[in-house]
Amino acid sequence: MEIAFSDVTEDGLSLTIDNDGWFPHEEIGLTAPVECSIVVKKIDNDSVKVTGEMKYVTQSTCDKCCRDFEQQINLDFNYDCTVREDETASSQDSECTEENYEKLFLEGPVVDIDAILREQAILGLPVRNICSSSCLGLCLGCGADLDAQKCQCGEQEKPSPFSVLKHLKGR
Ligand SMILES: [Zn+2]
Ligand SMILES: [Zn+2]
Repeated sequence: MEIAFSDVTEDGLSLTIDNDGWFPHEEIGLTAPVECSIVVKKIDNDSVKVTGEMKYVTQSTCDKCCRDFEQQINLDFNYDCTVREDETASSQDSECTEENYEKLFLEGPVVDIDAILREQAILGLPVRNICSSSCLGLCLGCGADLDAQKCQCGEQEKPSPFSVLKHLKGR
């Protein structure tokens, strides 16, 4: 879906996205219909702001215990879309200025909503997939599934070399 700036008013255009043709199905397997809505607001003749929300449920494999689980992804996003006067720039060239805020430069006063939604769906996937905050995972020593069985080697007693990563983990 594309939205022309001329169709957007200062009050904003609210849309519920009820098709998912834009969703990157090859990369992300859905286990429920994706929910998505956006608001497009005019800033001036050369720029609009797109804010939106997306929810989807995907099948993931836990990085710690290797079990499959369903993971709900909730996203908010916010784009400033501006017609770029510099013609050497490619269209849809986006750069991230801060977290959850994207600047999108366009060749003309039309914004490709599908491209934004597709990008967000992919960006929304977590870097690490953990089935639950209480997941104990597999013992690095003996491979025991610590949620279901006891460690046979005593290795789990030692601090994991990866425990420092917990502090670096994002949202
Ligand atoms: Zn797990
Ligand atoms: Zn062990």
